[in-house]
Amino acid sequence: MARTPLVVGNWKLHNGVADSLALATEIKNQLFNIRRVEVAVAPVFTALHAVGKRLEGTALGLAAQDCFWEDNGAWTGEVSAALLRDLGCAYVIVGHSERRRYFGELDASVNLKARAVLRHGMSPIMCIGESEAERDAGETFGRLAAQLDGGLAEIPGSDATRVVIAYEPIWAIGTGRTASVGQVEEAHGFIRARLRDRWGDLADDIRIQYGGSVKPENAQQLMVAADVDGALVGGASLKPESFIAIARAAVP
Ligand code: PEP
Repeated sequence: MARTPLVVGNWKLHNGVADSLALATEIKNQLFNIRRVEVAVAPVFTALHAVGKRLEGTALGLAAQDCFWEDNGAWTGEVSAALLRDLGCAYVIVGHSERRRYFGELDASVNLKARAVLRHGMSPIMCIGESEAERDAGETFGRLAAQLDGGLAEIPGSDATRVVIAYEPIWAIGTGRTASVGQVEEAHGFIRARLRDRWGDLADDIRIQYGGSVKPENAQQLMVAADVDGALVGGASLKPESFIAIARAAVP
């Protein structure tokens, strides 16, 4: 079955409410009725509400960059999946490599977050990827397998097609170094096969995004690569013209 590509702009820790609204408005003006590709933006938590309102009535979706797995309680400083759903989010990024690296996030907590996102009717965008040292040591597939097995544990087949996997080789994030089409197809093929081992033919309906220095110049060749179903875009998503060009390149 054909999978609708998904392009998400991860704005990371950039832009307060006013700048987020300005960026969202430029994207909205160009992509408000885009078809055959789903497009979403992930602003900082404090701009989610305003950006969500700005995008209302368009084809554009709202995504959060992280969440906590409990719905409420004595968890000072956390933002639950339930609250993100309340704001109108359709997607939540979980397990981004920056969270794994700087905030000690483990596959077990990524799994709890993904299950909370699914419980509240949204789609988790689960980031996985190897470091340069792991790639050089021939450990790429082992790393991807461990992240998939840990992150997807206990997610039933009935939720499988709402899961999105983002393959993001750590050495390609924010570095300007993009994985080659061959490397991307090999990794995505491995991920698809692992999803098939877990969920059978449902794997054919699960989107696998590529992320890592995607820009207008390389988007086209990456988006047509086998098993690539859109992109998770960091740096280039902060420039409206770049993000718009990438989104358009993903239209099949
Ligand atoms: C990311 O942070 O998910 C990402 C892919 O960043 P960049 O596009 O800047 O490499």
